[in-house]
Amino acid sequence: MQKIVILGGGESGVGTALLAKKMNFEVFVSDYGTIQGNYKAILVENDIAFEEEKHSEAIILEADVVMKSPGIPDNVSIVVLLLKKGISVISEIEFAGRYCKATVIGITGSNGKTTTTLLTHHILSKAGLDVSVAGNIGASFAAQIAASKAENYVLELSSFQLDGIVEFSPHIAIITNISPDHLDRYNYDFEMYVDSKFRITKNQTEKDYLIYDGDDTVIKSWLSKNKIRPQLLPFSLKEKMEKGAYLKGQELIIKLNGEEIIMNIKKIAIQGKHNIKNAMAAAMVAKLMKVRKQTIRESLEDFEGVEHRLEPVKKVNGVSYMNDSKATNVNATYYALECMKTPTVWIVGGVDKGNDYFDLMPLVREKVKAIVCLGVDNRKIKETFGNVVDLVIETLGAEEAVKVAAKIADVGDTVLLSPCCASFDLFENYEDRGNKFKTAVRNL
Ligand code: ADP
Repeated sequence: MQKIVILGGGESGVGTALLAKKMNFEVFVSDYGTIQGNYKAILVENDIAFEEEKHSEAIILEADVVMKSPGIPDNVSIVVLLLKKGISVISEIEFAGRYCKATVIGITGSNGKTTTTLLTHHILSKAGLDVSVAGNIGASFAAQIAASKAENYVLELSSFQLDGIVEFSPHIAIITNISPDHLDRYNYDFEMYVDSKFRITKNQTEKDYLIYDGDDTVIKSWLSKNKIRPQLLPFSLKEKMEKGAYLKGQELIIKLNGEEIIMNIKKIAIQGKHNIKNAMAAAMVAKLMKVRKQTIRESLEDFEGVEHRLEPVKKVNGVSYMNDSKATNVNATYYALECMKTPTVWIVGGVDKGNDYFDLMPLVREKVKAIVCLGVDNRKIKETFGNVVDLVIETLGAEEAVKVAAKIADVGDTVLLSPCCASFDLFENYEDRGNKFKTAVRNL
C-alpha cells in the first residue's frame, strides 16, 4: 500500500485525505497547528489517522508521497527534510488532477482570479454544462474528485498550488495578469513568482489553450523568451488581435476559429477596464467550450460581480460607498481608482507587502480629494501621498474610517475602500474588513 502524508489539515488537506483513502492509500494527516473541529470530525468519521500541533518526523519521512497545503512555505524544516530525502512533495491540485477525467479550466494571475473563475462558471452553467468550481474557492478539488462530481471544473489556482504540480495540465489555462504580490514567499524574486504562474502551461500540449492579457508587459516578455506548446489566445484593450479578444470603440470583439462575437461593453454588468478583460477571458473559454454566442452575451449581462470586489454598497446623503476590500495590492487598487468617475475619498492601508505606489500617483492626483488611512502603521502612505493630497487622516477601525470619510465627502463624491494592503493588522481577513466597512456604511 502506498503511503501518503498530508501536511496541513485544512480544506485542501482534508480533501486530499478523502481522495487518497478512496484510492487505497495509507493516509496520515499532520498539522503543526490545530485542526478545525469540522475538519477533525471528517477525519474521524472516515477513519483517517492524524496528528496536530506537531510533525512526527519518523512517520512523515516514511511517506512515498507528500501533499503540502498551499499555506505552508517551502522553507519550513519538515519540507526541507523531505526534499533532502528525495520524497516527492506535491500540491492538492496535482494529486487530485491524477484522478480527474473531467475537462479542466485553470485560472491563475495576480488579480482577477476569483472574478474570472466565477464568471466563467456562470456562463458555462447557464449554457447547461455540468460544471463545478474549485481550487481556492469552495469545496476542495480533491474532495470533489473523491465524490466524482462534475464533467467540467473551473479551478482558481494560486502560485503556491502551481509550485507543487508535476503532471497537472488544464485543457484551457488563463493567466489574468502578473504584477508583484506574495514576494515574501519567493525570496523577493519577481522572476521566480512569474515562473511559478507560468507553470500552469508546463504540461499543456498543442491541443490546449492559453488565454492571457496581451497588454501585460510581464507576460509578453516571458512569452518572448520561453517556448510553450498551447495555442495562444491573448486579450487586449489596446491592440487588434487576429485570434483572441480586443476592443473596437465600445465593442468587445472575440475572434476564434473563424467566428466572431461582438458585444457592447456598456451591456457588461461588471464595470471597469479590469472587468472587461475578465469578461474577455471568460467569454473565450465559453466559446472554446462551444457555448452559443447568445448565451455568452446574456451571461455577461447578468453576472453581478463578486462581494468585496469593487462592490457598490449604498448611497448615503448623495455619497456613493464602494467596498473593494479584496484589493490587497497596488494593481488591484489601480483599477479601482481608474473606475472612479467622481471626486473620491480613498480609504487605504493595512499590512503593506512591499508596495511601490508610484503607478497610482497620476490617478491619486486626478481623483482623490482626501485619504483616510486604515492601518496600524501608515507612515509610508503619509510619506508618499502627503504632498499630493491635502487631507490625510489616520483611523484605527472601519467604523471610525467610515464616519471620518462621511464627514469629508460632499454630495456626488465616492468613498472607496480599496486598501492596497493585507488586512491582518486590524481585521481577521479581507472579508471581515469588507463586512465591517459595509455595516458601518449601513449604520450611517
Ligand atoms: P484574485 O482572486 O486574483 O485575488 P479577485 O477577482 O478576487 O482576484 O479580485 C481582487 C482584486 O483585484 C479586486 O480588488 C478586484 O476589483 C481587482 N481585479 C479584478 N480583476 C482584475 C484584473 N483583471 N486586473 C486587476 N485587478 C483586478
